[in-house]
Amino acid sequence: MNADIAVIGLAVMGQNLILNMNDHGFKVVAFNRTVAKVDQFLEGAAKDTDVIAAHSLEEMVSLLGLPRKIMLMVKAGEVVDDFIDKLIPLLSKGDIIIDGGNSNFIDTNRRVEKLSKLNLHYVGAGVSGGEEGARYGPSIMPGGDVQAWPSIKAIFQGISAKTEKGEPCCDWVGHGGSGHFVKMIHNGIEYGDMQLISEAYHFMKDVLRMSHEEMQATFRDWNKTELNSYLVEITADILAYKDIDGNPLVEKIMDTAGQKGTGKWTGINALDAGIPLTLITESVFARCLSALKLQRVEAQKLFNKSIGEIHDDKQQWIAALHDALLASKIISYAQGFMLMKQASEDNNWDLNYGNVALLWRGGCIIRSAFLGNIRDAFAAKPELDFLVLDPYFKNILERCMPAWRKIAATSFETGLPMPCMTSALSFLDGYTTARSSANMIQAQRDYFGAHTYERVDKKPGEFFHTNWTGQG
Ligand code: NAP
Repeated sequence: MNADIAVIGLAVMGQNLILNMNDHGFKVVAFNRTVAKVDQFLEGAAKDTDVIAAHSLEEMVSLLGLPRKIMLMVKAGEVVDDFIDKLIPLLSKGDIIIDGGNSNFIDTNRRVEKLSKLNLHYVGAGVSGGEEGARYGPSIMPGGDVQAWPSIKAIFQGISAKTEKGEPCCDWVGHGGSGHFVKMIHNGIEYGDMQLISEAYHFMKDVLRMSHEEMQATFRDWNKTELNSYLVEITADILAYKDIDGNPLVEKIMDTAGQKGTGKWTGINALDAGIPLTLITESVFARCLSALKLQRVEAQKLFNKSIGEIHDDKQQWIAALHDALLASKIISYAQGFMLMKQASEDNNWDLNYGNVALLWRGGCIIRSAFLGNIRDAFAAKPELDFLVLDPYFKNILERCMPAWRKIAATSFETGLPMPCMTSALSFLDGYTTARSSANMIQAQRDYFGAHTYERVDKKPGEFFHTNWTGQG
């Protein structure tokens, strides 16, 4: 037997990826820690396919052609290290291990290095698109030991989503943990997009008092504009969905958001790198605040808080909300690419930002028309410092600015929380302010801690200290 690849991990992602590989003519060996699940899979979803069962790692390895390609689709963390340690004695020079889970890129950096010393090739591949993506075409972001790429390219590009021009949403990202880093940024952007859409929905529902029919029709309309995206599309579907009693199911769902950690990692990485990733970080905090349900209920009573309503010019407000959402989304992506640029420079990954945008163009949760424009921006100027400096995005931001300010101001006036839309505007105001207030911070730091400061009327790099109180 010379199977093309083995997949370890038969939960939802592993099973669907295997079936996808099988559909594309690849011979796949399936293995799982709980071995009974292998037979269940072969007798169930994989019945009448060419998928091969393995009941031990040894059997799995023996069924593979050289170089052996083994993909882990298991819980991220120690589980991945445990499998790697069990596989190493069974493999030979040139074999490839691919981790398709949501691993932290720092772990992947370490694993790539460890395996290369053993003459084995390690790939950390971000996979996005959830269950359906895995089954019919995910976005795949592989990075690590580039020597593995020629051997796995056909499988991964074969099963990945394709753009409308037929380009695969899978390409080599770069060295080390860069594939998992790019996936982490993807997930951070996903957090931001979801929060922004939820803020627009909240404004429609509680400020404009729109019905669910009106809201779903609005999101469907928006999906025909620059906002065209998977998340806007599913938001319309969610608003249209009725529970068995005929009422919208979404209103029966508890307003506390879960999280698995990749948004938090993105925020932590931004803080470590000193990059002002305000929107994604704010979206993580919004989920944390949502989890304080009991406190929020008490606080609303204590403050006797109610949200202000607006009953006039509904269409104008909806148009303003559209523009505020679009402008905020641009800031979110721009910040995400700014963090990616910093990481690429710090790690010598030499990332191609236009290609990254293309990887997300299909198959993944943040797929949207908008990513085509991001790709064009980086294709026109690969060294672009910040996306808002690209003429296409600058023009949209200028066009949307009055409406965006109106929505942000109304958020504060009505008491409707819109942390991401408002902080995105504050960020852009900060980014476009040549003379900030940080001179005062420097003066305060020098006053209490003698941290010194530079002067605008002297050479950069020359530092001064003042005895602010005149006391010795
Ligand atoms: P999962 O629930 O994250 O993991 C389940 C798999 O991990 C099972 O095969 C399970 O084996 C194995 N496993 C768990 N603990 C183990 C242990 N201590 N030792 C050995 N094996 C262990 O599965 P998933 O949702 O399919 O996700 C797989 C990976 O893809 C994860 O890293 C996930 O974060 C990532 N991912 C998931 C999605 C999604 O939409 N679900 C999307 C993108 C990426 P047993 O059956 O024996 O318990």
